[in-house]
Amino acid sequence: METQTIEARLNAIEAKLDALLEKKTPKVAPVNPFGKSYEWEAGKDAKTPEEIEAFFNSPEITAIKVQMCDLGRRIWAKDFVDGNGGNITVRVGDNLVLCTPTLVSKGFMKPEDICLIDFEGNQLAGTQRRTSEAMTHLEVLKRVPNARACVHAHPPHATAFAISNEVPAKGIIPEAEIFLGNIGIAEYQTPGAPELADTVAECATQHQAVIMKNHGVLCWGKNAEDAYWRVEILDAYCHTLAIALQLGRGLCEIKPEKVRELEKIRAALIK
Ligand SMILES: [Zn+2]
Repeated sequence: METQTIEARLNAIEAKLDALLEKKTPKVAPVNPFGKSYEWEAGKDAKTPEEIEAFFNSPEITAIKVQMCDLGRRIWAKDFVDGNGGNITVRVGDNLVLCTPTLVSKGFMKPEDICLIDFEGNQLAGTQRRTSEAMTHLEVLKRVPNARACVHAHPPHATAFAISNEVPAKGIIPEAEIFLGNIGIAEYQTPGAPELADTVAECATQHQAVIMKNHGVLCWGKNAEDAYWRVEILDAYCHTLAIALQLGRGLCEIKPEKVRELEKIRAALIK
């Protein structure tokens, strides 16, 4: 009887902890960020309204929508976005891209909020309107064949670098070298303007992690989880750098030959 009571109390405590941690706990198991991208058959994109509707509601695409909503919640829980900021896109065809909606908090999206668009930004399916920042993602997905997903956010530490004249140093922390490589800096352009898409996409052809001046960041990856990891690692790196710079004693650089070893690990990982 006593044991049952203790067990019941432990269950109640666990339930309370779950509720408290709900904001932080993923509801969906993350996909392997180094796993395969979503693959489609070239030249076989859904075209008719019936084909598009069936494709949009297929189990494979629904699973990606669920994943995008979960990532949105994680991005929001980490304070990487505010208001309706931030966007996620996932390429699912020659000319088909899943995209987060406009004017919806990334922390509270439902799978039915996700839109399907083509590379011109035309909306093909979904009840919500696609984000205007989709054009920047589309340009990245067009120009970088390895980019199958993009995540754009305004994480405070990386954005602090985006609004200062401080460029994140290279060769300081192994994880940043391996997962981010050389961080790109894209000059400021007005949100939604074609120049923004052009400037960020040009930078993304050379860099997987892009700091957008006076705005935020955009990272691309094999899948949405992969792209998100880059955002998370970029912000953590900028956070640590910012603290170290405040200590005022300079940064200890990793020796160039050791940096080259890290670059080899990165090259092997992104194959
Ligand atoms: Zn933005």
